[in-house]
Amino acid sequence: ISWWSQVEMGPPDAILGVTEAFKKDTNPKKINLGVGAYRDDNGKPFVLPSVLKAEEQMRAKKLDHEYGPIGGTAEFCKHSITLALGDSNEHVANGLNSTVQGISGTGALRIGGAFLQKFFPGNKTVYLPTPSWGNHTPIFKHSGLDVKQYRYYDPKTCGFDFQGALQDIAKIPEKSVILLHACAHNPTGVDPKPEQWAEISKVIKDKQLFPFFDMAYQGFASGDVSKDAAAVRLFLKDGHQIALAQSFAKNMGLYGERAGAFSLITSSKDDADRTLSQLKIIIRPMYSNPPVHGARIVSEILGDANLKSIWLKDVKEMAERIISMRTMLRDNLAKEGSSRNWQHITDQIGMFCFTGMNPAQVEQLTSKYSVYLTKDGRISIAGVTSQNVGYLAHAMHQVTK
Ligand code: PMP
Repeated sequence: ISWWSQVEMGPPDAILGVTEAFKKDTNPKKINLGVGAYRDDNGKPFVLPSVLKAEEQMRAKKLDHEYGPIGGTAEFCKHSITLALGDSNEHVANGLNSTVQGISGTGALRIGGAFLQKFFPGNKTVYLPTPSWGNHTPIFKHSGLDVKQYRYYDPKTCGFDFQGALQDIAKIPEKSVILLHACAHNPTGVDPKPEQWAEISKVIKDKQLFPFFDMAYQGFASGDVSKDAAAVRLFLKDGHQIALAQSFAKNMGLYGERAGAFSLITSSKDDADRTLSQLKIIIRPMYSNPPVHGARIVSEILGDANLKSIWLKDVKEMAERIISMRTMLRDNLAKEGSSRNWQHITDQIGMFCFTGMNPAQVEQLTSKYSVYLTKDGRISIAGVTSQNVGYLAHAMHQVTK
C-alpha cells in the first residue's frame, strides 16, 4: 500500500519551466528571457559592489548565527520602512508603522494575506490588476482571501487602460482590498503616470478601499529609489492607511537571501503596536523567525552612509542598463525594417516588457530561434545584452512581420 497513490501530478511552474526548457536547448545563440533576475551585460548574475563590501564589513565583525527576533531585527525593519517612505517621513517618526521582516517579497505578501484574513474588518477580497504577477492569486487564495480583478493593461495600446481601471475600481464593493504594484508593474512594465496615480488614489479613498502596495522593484524602475516610491508616498499624503510588501531581491540582488518586509501604516501608534503584536503571532507558527544573512546585508548598507551611496549607484547602474537595452532593442527592430510600432518597449518600465507578441509568435520565437519567454509575450529585459540584442531583434522581426 502507498499513502500517496491518490496524489495527482501537479503542473510545472509556468515561469521556472521556461528555464528548464532553455537549459536543454543546444543552440549556441539561445537566449533566456524568462528569468526575473537581473543579468549584467555579459548575461551573468550580478553581485552588487555594495553588497560585497557589506559582507566584508560583516565578516570582520565575526557575527554569530543565533536566532533573530520573530519579526526580524528592529534595525532592519526601521531601515526598510524608511527606505520606502523617505528619510524625513512623519509616519515612522510618530510610530505609525508596524513592520516585520518577511521571507522576501513573497513572504511579506503572505504575512499580509494572513493578517487581512484574520483581522480585516471589511470585505475579505483582494482586487488584483489584470494581469498581475502570477503568484499573487495563489498567495492570497492560500491566505484564505477571495481574489478578483480590475482592468489594468490595454492590449491595443500595450499601455495602461486608465479609464478601464478607474471604471472597475469605482465598482469594487466598499471596504475591499486593492492590490497596487508600486512601480515597474510585473508582468506588463506599464505604470500609471503621477497624475493618474493621483486620480486612482482619490477613487480608492472615495470607495473606502484598503490599498495594499507590492513594491518589489524600488529603484529598479527609474534608477532612483525616491522616484520609484512616489505612488506609496502620494497615497500616504492623501491620508490612506496602507499595507506594504517590500523586497530586496531585485534592488540589492539578494534573490536567494529572502530579505523583505511587511508593513502596515496605521492611524495611531496604538494601532501600530497592537497590529505588530498580532503579526508576530501569525509568523511564529509559520516559520518561527526569518533568515538573518540577507537582512544583515540590508541593515549594513542602509545604516552606513558610505555603503548606501555605493548602493544607490549600483541600483542606478542596473536600471540604466535595462533602460539602454530597451532603446537598443527598439532601434534594432527598426534597423531590421520592422514596420510595427514598438514604442511600448521604451515606454514600459522595469525589468519586464510586454511585447504584444501572441502565443503563436512566441512559439515560433522559441522553436525557430531558441529565444525563451513566457507565453504571454513577456520578455525580461535583464536577459538582453549588447551582444544578443541584434539577434533578438532579428528573431522578433521574423516572427512578427
Ligand atoms: N511581487 C512582484 C510583483 C514580483 O515580481 C516579485 C518577484 N518576482 C515579488 C513580489 C517577490 O519576489 P521575492 O519573493 O523574490 O522578493
